[in-house]
Amino acid sequence: MNADHARHYFRETFAAEPDVIASAPGRVNVIGEHLDYNGGQVLPMAIDRRIYVAIKARPSETLSRVVSENQSVSAEFDIQAILRSGQWWDYITGICAAFPSRDARLPQIAAVVTSDLPSASGLSSSAALEVSTCVSLAALVADKRALKDLALLSWNVENQFVGVAVGVMDQFASALSVEGHALHVWCDTLDVEQVPMKEAVLIFDTAIPRSLRTSQFNQRREECDEALRLLRQRDPELENLAAAHPDEVRAAHLPATLEKRALHVTEENLRVEALVAGLKKSGSVSGETLYASHESLRTQYECSTPELDWFVDNARKIAGVRGARLTGAGWGGCAIAVGDFDALNDAKDELCTAYESSFRRKPKVWLTYAAQGVRVELNNQ
Ligand code: ADP
Ligand code: MG
Repeated sequence: MNADHARHYFRETFAAEPDVIASAPGRVNVIGEHLDYNGGQVLPMAIDRRIYVAIKARPSETLSRVVSENQSVSAEFDIQAILRSGQWWDYITGICAAFPSRDARLPQIAAVVTSDLPSASGLSSSAALEVSTCVSLAALVADKRALKDLALLSWNVENQFVGVAVGVMDQFASALSVEGHALHVWCDTLDVEQVPMKEAVLIFDTAIPRSLRTSQFNQRREECDEALRLLRQRDPELENLAAAHPDEVRAAHLPATLEKRALHVTEENLRVEALVAGLKKSGSVSGETLYASHESLRTQYECSTPELDWFVDNARKIAGVRGARLTGAGWGGCAIAVGDFDALNDAKDELCTAYESSFRRKPKVWLTYAAQGVRVELNNQ
């Protein structure tokens, strides 16, 4: 999958050449789980699967059209009067609605989407679609807004227009990642830094439906809010839950469940700092820190599943694997193993076969390095 493919698909669809093409990657979180909504730190990286958006301006038309190679139904809409549809193109039309500023107005457009990034697998295709749309529109009208502003715009669209309450990590990772680096994000201040990260990452999708996820996730958010409220009775200045120290949490004698949740959040935040410091110093990921993260998610945040635990236990047995843990919200979804590319490549088929015979489910795997964030692939403007 590349920009040429998107250009060909555009030509086939609209019998014309696109004016601009931008592509944006999916992401995986290396460490810092359930910290975004607690004001903590996260360390995602872009993966080498991308969504391409190719656009041509149609200034003399009254309607816009968007076609995705991965969807059977295409969209027709007036870019000056956008309504939410509940369909896949809301990610695109939402960006079109939020994009205009005093200096940037949009003409009607013809657009295509092509992608090798699996959708709804927890690799954040939604953010990749928003960010690639946003950056291709910026190229189309020569808008000079900073990438960080476009990432924030994309984030607002997912929260407010599409209506999915997500942290800022996904849009930041897709927009701001640099090849060969993970992206260290402080979710309270929205500061970022690039951290060199050369190791390979195996992403393992357990193929467990995410049915429990929403209710459990909402419950965790409420528990964290309640833990913060109680901690603030002792420390009114506490800015967010991740800003507390684990000792402070222990000293507060919270109800047992809340204490476990708060310990996960505060300890995980320290683990992000430790792992980042190690990466900067030695260039490699501390495997022990990844295993400790998983253990905390399993026992304190209680968002793992037997399938995710199975993966971590089995990855640990492979020579050349440095560490492993569940990634994303948990309750199904994906896990990662970090280490030597050849070792992970050699082990992945065996892992899949063994998983399938244990759980009667076919997993999916992707092997990746830290990839480049959004980029403009073509600009004929
Ligand atoms: P994730 O972000 O984990 O992949 P989401 O449910 O947040 O899962 O986003 C998936 C949605 O994004 C899809 O249901 C679809 O609406 C949209 N989407 C993703 N990839 C594409 C694509 N290639 N073409 C059209 N829509 C897409
Ligand atoms: Mg998403």
